Amino acid sequence: MDVRKSFGDHVILDGLTLDVAEHEVVALIGASGSGKSTLLRCVNLLEEIDDGTITLDGDEITDPRANPDAVRQKIGLVFQSYNLFPHMTVLDNITLAPVRVHKRPAAEAKEQAMTWLDRVGLTAKASAYPDRLSGGQQQRVAIVRALVNNPRLLLLDEVTSALDPELVGEVLTMIRDLKGEGMTMVLATHEMGFAKQVADRVAFLDGGKVLEQGPPAQVLGDPVEARTRQFLARII
Ligand code: ATP
Ligand code: MG
Repeated sequence: MDVRKSFGDHVILDGLTLDVAEHEVVALIGASGSGKSTLLRCVNLLEEIDDGTITLDGDEITDPRANPDAVRQKIGLVFQSYNLFPHMTVLDNITLAPVRVHKRPAAEAKEQAMTWLDRVGLTAKASAYPDRLSGGQQQRVAIVRALVNNPRLLLLDEVTSALDPELVGEVLTMIRDLKGEGMTMVLATHEMGFAKQVADRVAFLDGGKVLEQGPPAQVLGDPVEARTRQFLARII
């Protein structure tokens, strides 16, 4: 992708380019306000880019003729706050979009949801309401909700930041398992330990661009750019 995005006259992404290979996990790091969330929202077409292109499997998803619903079916996005609907059961939360938006048969969506819940050990919670689940369980349900469409790409925005430290592990394990299955993921995180554990590549966003990228050990352990060093020195 190659994107430019401003809010008013505030340029957030300034001709940022990033390529993600199939099965690759890329962690986006950078100061608060550097545009990590904006970038993920652009990829999911929640924000319109001002200039540039984003392609997925060779298709330009930012083409004005592209169907946003069809694009979003191929791209799962999970936020920091799980955004589960409080008045709906876990199972209904998961099957709502596939059935209502993507017109999938309800029985098929339900079966697939149950398969995923089983895999993440949450079968018993299928008919529970979100407020009966721990934060870690809710976040895993939110990830399952993003997975039922069999997305080609999963975008994760600070998915562990709202969790108590003892609940982070179960979400991390789930993400590691997904990586093991070859899921392509781009995740924004403030936790360098998380980036180090799951990412194949870390990209440091600064000044609206990817200033530096490479294997986690290199970018986090021995960065080339002075600004990357400054950023890491501030947060560790
Ligand atoms: P954080 O690490 O705090 O999550 P971030 O890297 O995700 O930060 P973004 O949320 O992408 O940063 O925000 C980038 C910049 O864009 C910020 O200056 C923010 O204030 C601005 N911004 C984001 N969304 C909007 C919006 N809808 N309207 C105006 N400005 C916005
Ligand atoms: Mg953000």
